[in-house]
Amino acid sequence: MADKPYQNKAKRGKYDEKPKKGRTHLTGPPLTKEFKEQEDRNLLELLTKRKIENSVKLSVQNGSFDSTCYVVFAANYFAKSIKGDVFIPAEISLAEFSLKTGLLKTYHSLVNPKVLPYGNKYDAQVHCSNTHKLPLPPNALGEENLSKLYVAIMNFAKNEATGEYRPLYVKEDSLYIAKAILAYMKNDFNDSHITLEVYPIQHLFHIMKESACKIGELSLPSSLSIQSVFYRDNYAYHVGLSCEYHENIDRSNYCAKSIASRMCFKFTEYMAPDVAIKIIKGRHIPHDVAPSFEVIEPRPFKPTRKQDKIFKKEKDEED
Ligand SMILES: [Zn+2]
Repeated sequence: MADKPYQNKAKRGKYDEKPKKGRTHLTGPPLTKEFKEQEDRNLLELLTKRKIENSVKLSVQNGSFDSTCYVVFAANYFAKSIKGDVFIPAEISLAEFSLKTGLLKTYHSLVNPKVLPYGNKYDAQVHCSNTHKLPLPPNALGEENLSKLYVAIMNFAKNEATGEYRPLYVKEDSLYIAKAILAYMKNDFNDSHITLEVYPIQHLFHIMKESACKIGELSLPSSLSIQSVFYRDNYAYHVGLSCEYHENIDRSNYCAKSIASRMCFKFTEYMAPDVAIKIIKGRHIPHDVAPSFEVIEPRPFKPTRKQDKIFKKEKDEED
C-alpha cells in the first residue's frame, strides 16, 4: 500500500496537534507574551502601591508622619525614539517636602543632550513648541554632562541619615517617561549599580490624605474628591515657581521646576491643616498666596445711604 502522508494526517484530524506557539496578531509577538507582560506590569504596580502604603503606615506608627520627607521628580523631553522606549531629556527638576516643613528644597537643570536621534526632528519640533518651548539640540541650553545630572539626582534622593535612596514620585501618566529619562541619563554613568525607583504620586497623595484625616480625627473625603483636588492645578500660571527661562517666555505651566514645586504644594496645602500644622507662605503654599482656608474676620457693617434710609423708615414705622 502506497504511503499517503497527507490523507493519513487528514484522518488523524487537526485537533491532535497542539499549536507550538500562542495565538498571535496578524503581525507581532504571540499574545501569550503580551498577556505575560501585562501581568508583570500589573504585579509591579500592585507591589509599588503596597510599598507606598507600608512607608506611610510606618511613618504613622513611629510618629514621623508629618516630618517624613518625600522627593518629587518632574522632567521635560525633546523627543522620543520611534519605538517609544527612549526619551531625550530637555529639563529635569526635583523637589523635597514634608507636611511639617512644606517645600524644603528644589533642584533644577536644563539638559543639553547635544544631538537628537536621526529622523525625529519634526516630531521634536512639534512636541517642544506645544509644550516647554526649549530650543532643540544643537542649540539646546543647560548641562551637557548627563552623568553629572544623574549623580545630582542620586544625591538629592539620598537619605543622609540612612544612606538609602528614596523613591522619586512622579505623576502617574509620566511614570514611563520619567523611568526612560532616568535610564537615558544613567546610561552615561557607567559606575552606578543603583536604579532609582519611580513611584506614582497620586497613590501617595491618596494614602497620605487618608492617614492625615485619621490622625486629625476628620471625616475622609471621597476618593473622587481627593482625586479632583490633585488635578486642580491652582498654581499652574503662578509667577515665581518656574525657572528663569520659562518665566521669561511665560511658559511656567510646562516648566519641570514649577511642576515639581506645585506637586509639593498640593500635599502641604491640602493636608497640613488636617494634622494641625499652620500654613506658612513660601513653604506650604507659594509665598504670595493667601491660605485658602484662612478665617477672614468679618468687617464691621456700615450701611450705605440707601440702606440707612430704609432702616430709619422701618424704625419709624415700628415706633
Ligand atoms: Zn523651566
